[in-house]
Amino acid sequence: MIAALEEAGWRYTPELSSADLLIINTCAFIVPAKEESINAVMQMRRLYPSKRILLAGCLSQRYASVLSSELPEVDGIFGNRSPRRVVELVDGVMAGKRPVLVPGGSEREAGTRGAGQPLRGRLLSFPGSAYLKIAEGCANRCTFCAIPLIRGDLASRPIAEIEAEAAELAAGGAREIVLVAQDSASYGSDRPGENGGGLGNLLERLLAIEGDFWLRLLYFHPDRFDLRLLDLFTSEPRLLPYFDLPFQHAAASVLRRMGRKGASEPYLELIAAIRSRLPAAVIRSTFLVGFPGEGEEEFAQLLRFQQRAEIDWLGVFPYSREEGTPAYRMKVPAEKRARRAELLRRVAAVEEAQLPITERRLNRFVGKRLDVLVEERISGEPLAIGRAYLHAPEVDGSVVVRSEGEPPAPGERVSCEILRRNGIDLEAIPRPLGP
Ligand code: SF4
Repeated sequence: MIAALEEAGWRYTPELSSADLLIINTCAFIVPAKEESINAVMQMRRLYPSKRILLAGCLSQRYASVLSSELPEVDGIFGNRSPRRVVELVDGVMAGKRPVLVPGGSEREAGTRGAGQPLRGRLLSFPGSAYLKIAEGCANRCTFCAIPLIRGDLASRPIAEIEAEAAELAAGGAREIVLVAQDSASYGSDRPGENGGGLGNLLERLLAIEGDFWLRLLYFHPDRFDLRLLDLFTSEPRLLPYFDLPFQHAAASVLRRMGRKGASEPYLELIAAIRSRLPAAVIRSTFLVGFPGEGEEEFAQLLRFQQRAEIDWLGVFPYSREEGTPAYRMKVPAEKRARRAELLRRVAAVEEAQLPITERRLNRFVGKRLDVLVEERISGEPLAIGRAYLHAPEVDGSVVVRSEGEPPAPGERVSCEILRRNGIDLEAIPRPLGP
């Protein structure tokens, strides 16, 4: 959206007070995300009563008509499927027309794949690091998930388009490119001719781009992970051995209800296969607890899986019943449906069990050398905070770098020696590689 608006002559500013228009990009995945989105609108309206506000993204896409009538605080509503059309929305908002535009699936494709789509003029995401979207939407139909409703079916971007954007990011100094999609493992399966070879082919093309950047992949549906990809990971040091596999559960009966094929044993085998080929592999996952059908026995299976899997980083979420999803109307016996308090107890139990696992997994890095991508300096201290290959942006721990002189700058990548673990963070000192 920013690239399209800049191309149309608008100027981006991160300073809210100097902006003429505020664009609030929203999420509508689960209830807390929807609440957060609405709260952001209310807060902006209170702080800036005379500025124009455009509500964009998934909340707009999912609830355009109700928001149009019940949210007078916004001056326009724009869905999530055709980002370039934000220009016409902004023109309408600034002309005082209160436009509403929620493009459908085919318009989304035109917007995603259109010729002449502006590339990005800035890194955008984090110092030295940029997200790069490789596909929109999802072809899977996990029964708890509203994303296919909000984002539509899988639409993979053409390889050439992703390649051009990655090359631009690399030439602009990106030290890390983070590939994202709702399910990266499905990349290209909607366009077998055009994107022949799917994700493996895409990765090979991106790794042919010159530049000293890390390539990190997020969100692999574990049932779709292709072990042949591991050949690339073992041969390409720029492709980080970081595997984001949202298992969601381990009890086969719960996974079937979720619309997934997996089970504890095959998931453990997948983890073992990754770790045996790549001993440095770091695995992140999420668990969804309290899904209908998860009784005490199924929850105990999940806890056993957690102990055996020894996942490095784990997020746990309580089930959120979302209208329009197949799970919304699922009928299960009362003993297989967790009430709110029980749901929170299960979340806490997984979190409590995870901390020592994560700490244990982190201990293996003490005494080792790691490259750290610096994200910020601590003002007035000889300290900088950054991430190593084992940390995805925003979600995992970090590395605190203590330097003797001037700390390294945000966006720099420095070779460090890890001195110790402190909670879920690592402490390090810069240690250039010897001659
Ligand atoms: S793979 Fe992810 S985005 Fe797709 S339906 Fe399942 S949970 Fe939702």
